[in-house]
Formats: sequence, C-alpha cells, structure tokens
Amino acid sequence: MADLVDEIRGRLGIEEVVSQYVQLKRAGRNLKGLCPFHGEKTPSFVVSPEKQICHCFGCNKGGDIFGFIKEVEGISFVEAIEVLADKAGLKFDRTKFKKQIPKSEKDEYFTAHEIACDFFEEQLHKTDDGKKVLDYLYKRGLEDATIREFRIGFAPDKFDALYPLLLKKASKDSLLKSGLISAKKIGSDEVYDKFRQRLMFPIFDSFGKVCGFGGRALSSDQVPKYLNSSDSPIYNKSGLLYGLSHAKKHIKDEDKIVIVEGYFDVILPYQAGVKNIVAVCGTALSNNHVKIIKRLTSNVVTSFDTDDAGFEATKRAYFLFQKEGILVKTVNGLTGKDPADFVKEKVGDFKSVVNESPDFVTFFTEKLMKSYDLKTLDGRKKILVDLLPCYKQMTPVIMDFFVKKLADRLGIEDKYLYGELDQVKLPDGHPANISNSSGESEVFSRKMSIAELIVSLMLEYSNLFKISKDLLLGENDFDDDMKNVYNALADQYNASRDAALVWDFSEGFLSKLCDKITVMRLYAEEKYKDFSDTALQSELEKLVDRLRKDRRIKALKEAQSRIADMEKNGDKDKLKELIEQQQRLLKSN
Ligand SMILES: [Zn+2]
Repeated sequence: MADLVDEIRGRLGIEEVVSQYVQLKRAGRNLKGLCPFHGEKTPSFVVSPEKQICHCFGCNKGGDIFGFIKEVEGISFVEAIEVLADKAGLKFDRTKFKKQIPKSEKDEYFTAHEIACDFFEEQLHKTDDGKKVLDYLYKRGLEDATIREFRIGFAPDKFDALYPLLLKKASKDSLLKSGLISAKKIGSDEVYDKFRQRLMFPIFDSFGKVCGFGGRALSSDQVPKYLNSSDSPIYNKSGLLYGLSHAKKHIKDEDKIVIVEGYFDVILPYQAGVKNIVAVCGTALSNNHVKIIKRLTSNVVTSFDTDDAGFEATKRAYFLFQKEGILVKTVNGLTGKDPADFVKEKVGDFKSVVNESPDFVTFFTEKLMKSYDLKTLDGRKKILVDLLPCYKQMTPVIMDFFVKKLADRLGIEDKYLYGELDQVKLPDGHPANISNSSGESEVFSRKMSIAELIVSLMLEYSNLFKISKDLLLGENDFDDDMKNVYNALADQYNASRDAALVWDFSEGFLSKLCDKITVMRLYAEEKYKDFSDTALQSELEKLVDRLRKDRRIKALKEAQSRIADMEKNGDKDKLKELIEQQQRLLKSN
C-alpha cells in the first residue's frame, strides 16, 4: 500500500486535488480559497504546493491529499486511496486491500445498484418493450451516445424481473433498505420489484457510482409520474445533485453552474454542449446542496419551471445562496419552455440565454412590475411586500445598489425604502433563516500560543534559531510538544553549527510530529511572508519578550495565591519569604 500511496503522491499535487473542490487564487507562494469545511466569506484556507498540504486557519482542518479527500468526501483512508488512485490513472486492486476494507454495508448497496443499472440498460436496448421506450427517448431528442453516457434504462412491467438477480448478490434485508425492492406487506417476506414499467434514470454519487434511481412513468395512468429511490445508506437526496459527476469538471472549467429541475433538463442541454448543469432529485434545494455547489463555483444560475412552484423554488434558491454570499442569477428568456424543450425545439441558444441571465432580484422586480400597477397605492404596496424581503440580508454595498435602483423605479427617495426595509421581518421558517449548521461538526478555532508561534518561526526560518540562542531562549521556556521540538532543533543546530541550517523532519521525534510541524511552518509562512530578515528578527524578539512576560505574570499570580493561603494559615516565616519572592518578580517586570 505504501508504494501506491507514494506513487499517487508523485502524480497528484495538492493544488490539483484541492482545486476540484475549492476555487483557489494565488497568494504569493501559496494559494488561497474559501474553506470547504466551514462557512466563511473571506478565505482562510491555504494550499501550499511546496509543502504539499492544505490547512484552514479558521477551523484547523486540512492535511495532505489523502487527508483532504478523506475529510471533504467523508470517506476512509483506504477509500481516499481508491479515489486518488483513480484520479492519478493508477490501478487500485481492491482485493489486495481486503483486510483494510471490511466488506461494508455500503458495498452491498453499491453492488446491488450496479446490477440493477446494468439490468435496466439491457432491458432498454435488448428487449422489444425496451425498444419502444428507446423510440420515446429519440423523440424527446436524446442521442444514443447520450443515452449510454447517462446509462438510461427501462424497468419492465413485471413484479419479479430484477429482484431474483439481486438476491444472488445481496441480502433481502439490505435490498429492502436500498429501496430497489418492496415488501408485499409490512414485515412480509414476500418481495417484488419497486420500479416497474418505468424509464430509469440512474442517479450517480459525485464519483459516478450508481446510488439511486429516478423512475419516470411510461403510461398516463401511472402514479407518481416520478418515483425516486428512498433515502438509504448510500443515497441521501438532500446531498445529491443529478448530473454532478458528469458536470463537475465543466463547472470548474467554466466557473459557473446551471441548476435545473428535471432529468431531461440536465441531459438535453448537456447533449447540446451546456455541460455545467445539474438538477436536484425529488426534493427542494437544501443547505447541503448549496455547500456542495459553493465548493465548486460562486456563479450560480437557476433555470426552474416557469410555473408558480418553479418560481417558489427559484426564490428559495436565491435565499439559500444569498446566505453564503452568492448572488444567484435566474434564466429569463426561455419563452415559457423548460430547458429540455427549449433545447430540443431549438428555440434559441440555451448557452447564450444562460450567460445573459439577470440576477434574481432584477428578474423578480421585472416580474412584479408586470403584475402590479405602479401607479396605484395598492400596486406599490404589493411590490414592496414581495420584494423587500429579498434585500434583507444583502451586504451594504449590494443593498445600496438595489435600493437606489428600486427607489428610482418608484420615484421616491432612498431613505423611505430603508425605512420600509427596517420594518421587514423574515419569519422563522423562511429559507434565509434555515440553520446552516445542521449536521456540521462544530467549527473551532484555536489560536497559536506564543510558544508555538516562536517555534513556528524557527521551524520556517531556520536562521532565527541562532538568534534565539542570543536571546537566551532555552528548553525551559517551552512545555510538552514544543519543548521536545525545541530540543530536537537544538540537537540539529549543535550538530551543524556553521553549516547552513536545514531542518530535517524525517527522523526521530520530529517525524512523529510531522503533520503538526508542517502546519506550523505554513502558519509562519503565511503570517510572515512579507517580513524582511530584520523584521523577522525583531518579531522573534518581541515574541520572546511576551513569552517571558506571560511567564512572570503566571508566577506572580501563583505567588499571590500562596501568600493568601499563608495569611490564612499564619506561617509568618514562610510568608516573609514569599513576599520577598513576589517583590523580586515585580522588579524584574
Ligand atoms: Zn475552515
């Protein structure tokens, strides 16, 4: 395994791996971006190509390529190796790792879904009933290559077509839980296929593994029109976006995402070249979706249905993204059609329509202006009631922009609009108020101690170690890990005296603290990157000064509390001695 890990490290850089999830901008030797692990508006997530690590100075999460993938995808180390081996174009032999991967429940579900997906594809392409469905797909505008790429299939009108195949590979229990089969009655041992006489869209997780299905009715008397997998250990609809595994690369490349409502609305534009497109499956847009998207891009365009429900979904998207500092745009100009039909009927160029989308607030304003009469008091009131909640959580600069624009339209002064805005309260259940923290681990932020800062400086700028000696810094100035690191550095310093000092972290005590040391060095590098040698030296002097001051204050406090104890107990000699000690401490201050 170590060989494979090294080989992967040799092929994939941290920058390349992280940039699949985070938009990075160069900042000196390092790159910076918004942390994918906690919500933030100014970037504190740093990637160091030189040190091959990433680290968030807000929540302290990060690591090398394996640590990063583990954390961001919520998977095990071995699974992270598998993912990265794949990215690096290396073969990962699962059988070699049998001992490391206990055959998990998840594997059984994935296997069952893969079997089901193969089966549905075969039914579509190789049976007479399937051929009719294939004709329907052609009529909807799909081409063969696209049908294969999205692995679209057909579930025949039978109760026992699929489950006998599945039972060969998975237990009845897990198949019931996976939602691929249903029990005849609650607790019944008799089962049947859940998806029958349906067009089957496999739903892929972000790695492209089939983890659920959406089944579309094929005859008009079938309900529901869309039957989706229920949530299972591998399928969580509030965290999945249909088409994401296909779209991911394109979203990054174009730095933009288009969110639509249905399977055909993803597939037909994709076929026509708009590949940065995804849909939510059988649920409303959630905070989880927003988080996944935010890691990829901050340019979001929605293109939902043009009916009332579609508009409500659009508004919800606006509020959810606004909380994350993203101003959503809304497709306008599909002439009442959904994206699939618009593309199929070649009404216009979908890509241009996407690129010309107005921001949601402008879109909404125009919509309201058309519905209400600006000249009547009632009309003006209705416009304000509908529109102002959208302004509520804007940043001041953006708010100013929109307030001015609206005041202009209404022919009133800004201050009256601000007055109205103050009155607006968003109700509890409002999308803008849905908590962001659900299911997220508590973000903690720990500041470096002075001792750690000093050691960080010496780690990153080895020349400072000599100066620290001149400042009479010694092991007693440190505790615990820092004392050990300091001693290890002192050993190396003593061994190499006059030679140029390059710390070696590969052996002994330092190797055990390698991760911590790399993060400390990155911290020092970030914090002091613009410092000259003299500035670094005086920073070290200041820090050492503070370290000693802090220590004196601590000793003084301890002496004072002991004096208080002695006064209670009446030990006069001891008391005198302590007071003298206290005087000395005060004088040395
Ligand atoms: Zn963070």
